[in-house]
Amino acid sequence: MQGSALLRLRNVVKRFGEFTALDNVGLDIQEGEFFTIVGPSGSGKSTLIRLLVGMDDVTEGEIWLRDGRIDQTPANLRPTCMVFQSLALFPHLTVGKNIEFPLKLRKEPPDQRRRRALELLDLLRLPRDYYDKRISQCSGGERQRVALARALAFDPEILFFDEPLSALDYRLRKTLEKELKDLHARTGKTFVYITHSLEEAMVMSDRIAIMKEGRFEQIAVADEIYGRPVTRFVAEFMGEVN
Ligand code: ADP
Ligand code: MG
Repeated sequence: MQGSALLRLRNVVKRFGEFTALDNVGLDIQEGEFFTIVGPSGSGKSTLIRLLVGMDDVTEGEIWLRDGRIDQTPANLRPTCMVFQSLALFPHLTVGKNIEFPLKLRKEPPDQRRRRALELLDLLRLPRDYYDKRISQCSGGERQRVALARALAFDPEILFFDEPLSALDYRLRKTLEKELKDLHARTGKTFVYITHSLEEAMVMSDRIAIMKEGRFEQIAVADEIYGRPVTRFVAEFMGEVN
């Protein structure tokens, strides 16, 4: 298929029985972009991201990564990784063991794994002696950083996020928004982020897609979404913040 975008969706439909969760969705995400999908609860964000990482199958349509079609590719063979709200860390293990987990799966030797884990601690601005600290002794913000380090250990081309900050209090969320934006700039990787918070989307993203009832209502840069809100979701949000 022609096209220069890194990730492309064409006519993607996802049905659960009679119910259509994604209704003929198309999307182009550029390499290196911070792309955010925002929409109210139940609009289909998690469903979409699950298709993109390969946790579920499309009913119809195609997903392309560069020159290859990936919608039939198993999750473990896709160069993508996901960060969840739950983080899914192993609380009884150390920070180092958690970060190294994907490298262990790939059977990398222990000294190499350790070196990479320490580099990732540097990247996430966590002290190197955290390597031996248990997850259960880490704060909420530190756990987020460890989850990010582990996701990056896979060296994915695209990092997906499913509302990783939504359970956190406001101040920590604000701090981590900045850190994520900064991490995106420093890694140069493609981030695809989903949230129900338009404020979060506005702070971090290059472009934003507004999702409603399994369709995109608007896809634009943040300024344009502010300047020409085509959706009720955005209009209501602006009513709240003004
Ligand atoms: P969001 O992440 O935007 O809150 P979801 O993608 O989780 O929304 O859900 C979109 C819609 O699809 C919801 O109506 C939800 O109930 C439905 N849905 C999601 N997963 C399933 C499933 N496995 N079986 C049936 N319905 C589902
Ligand atoms: Mg969801």
